[in-house]
Amino acid sequence: MRGKVYLVGAGPGDFELMTIKGLSALKKAEVLIYDRLASPEYLKMVPQGCELIYVGKKASEHTLQQSEINDLLIEKANEGKCVVRLKGGDPYVFGRGGEEGEALYEKGIDFEVIPGITSAIGGLAYAGIPITHRDYASSFHVITGHLKSDERDHDWQAIAGYEGTLVFLMGLSNLSKIQEHLMHFGKAGSTPAAVVEWATTPRQRKLISTLENLTDEAERLQFQSPSIIVIGDVVNAHTALDTWSRKPLYGKTVAVTRGRDQASGLVTELREQGAVVVETPTISISGIESDALLNAVDHIKEYSHLIFTSVNGVQFFFKALMKAGKDTRSLGHLICTVIGSATYEALLQRGIKADYMPETYVAESVWQILEPVLTSNDKVLIPRAKGARSFLADVISQVCPVDEVALYEALPDESSIMDRKTQSRIDFVTFTSSSTVKHFFEIYGQEAKTLLSHALAVSIGPITTETLRKFGVDHSIEAEVFTTAGITQALLKEVKNHA
Ligand code: SAH
Repeated sequence: MRGKVYLVGAGPGDFELMTIKGLSALKKAEVLIYDRLASPEYLKMVPQGCELIYVGKKASEHTLQQSEINDLLIEKANEGKCVVRLKGGDPYVFGRGGEEGEALYEKGIDFEVIPGITSAIGGLAYAGIPITHRDYASSFHVITGHLKSDERDHDWQAIAGYEGTLVFLMGLSNLSKIQEHLMHFGKAGSTPAAVVEWATTPRQRKLISTLENLTDEAERLQFQSPSIIVIGDVVNAHTALDTWSRKPLYGKTVAVTRGRDQASGLVTELREQGAVVVETPTISISGIESDALLNAVDHIKEYSHLIFTSVNGVQFFFKALMKAGKDTRSLGHLICTVIGSATYEALLQRGIKADYMPETYVAESVWQILEPVLTSNDKVLIPRAKGARSFLADVISQVCPVDEVALYEALPDESSIMDRKTQSRIDFVTFTSSSTVKHFFEIYGQEAKTLLSHALAVSIGPITTETLRKFGVDHSIEAEVFTTAGITQALLKEVKNHA
């Protein structure tokens, strides 16, 4: 069987700007071929086992020629694979998607294009610049700034004469030439002009200027590729329309140390507030399959109480339950107690409303609730993390039998350590548990101290703050509500106070 190639537009940068159809293609990809403009977020969306092939430019490495990329697409499709060729923006806007499609057509390979939002339009929109506007421009022209040899150069006289918005892609290194040519052929030096760098990503920067000053200012402020150059009166609309830089955490860079599987809520919240988020998980959660666990699941009927202390506990316990051929019905007789609203939700999703949830999210409060309830006829099961505090089991064991079963453990994760340059950009480091603090110091060693001398630590609650103090971090801020939303709130408050 022959495979198929999808030429997919990734949109201008913000990974949420891909089409639903593009996402469906990603979700069934067996091979993903991508380059530098595609957000790394997409790499997490492909099925496990999908082959990832980078074909973009990197200063030190060999770059694949277009013909080699075409050959690669053909080769993978001929292996019968579902291939996604992911391209920044729209595949057919200066993306060579047309050439790739033609090469596939020639070999009789099935392919399909899935358009994307081009940076020329969407990128400008995020900077508050509408590509047309009834008061300013009724047409637009998207032009490559990658100029060829003189005889094949653009007709600058015609371009300078256009009334509509002029957008140059790949033009930064030729900015002075673009400026000179346009002014030479009569475009007014006072025409509003802008450069937008890394548009729609949290690194977005924009320069608002005029045609005559554009090159000087872009050089002074060290604008770099990828950048969009725009010339025309529409630039004037940016004051009203730039909603991006009005976000409260705009310009702030936040490191998230939480395990990757659990970080997504916090990461999304912070991004929505405009922060640049760097994910540097210090722990990864790994399941433990033990005889004790199998035994507990097999004899679940003998227990009367079940206590969950974390979302992970719920997840891994249900996994074990399913594996043993059981399901929620086999828990019907149990009185369930949970620590934390997220744990409550996780259990609810599996069809069980917990009977007890203490108001403060610590083991001591669970004991306050259960002490009057438990009798010597009860038997309690506590599925939890390896190495967790044994307080609950200790106190309960004085009343009735109790089994603690280690379901998972937090292991140090060194796969996403920030390099020094990234570390120097960090304004805040968030810690969602004591174990993230411990592993942060373990993984970063000496650099942890340096990093936390210029970046402010944000802790989820008093126990995590205490751990920070133990590691010599004297200054940190703390969430008022001990959840990830509480962390975001604490950050917003801090930034507002120092505005
Ligand atoms: N197919 C892409 C364009 C590819 S050419 C599209 O439709 O957007 C590459 C050029 O696009 C870059 O040199 C830059 O000028 C522009 N570009 C792409 N993404 C960009 C971004 N996020 N910010 C600024 N410019 C971008």
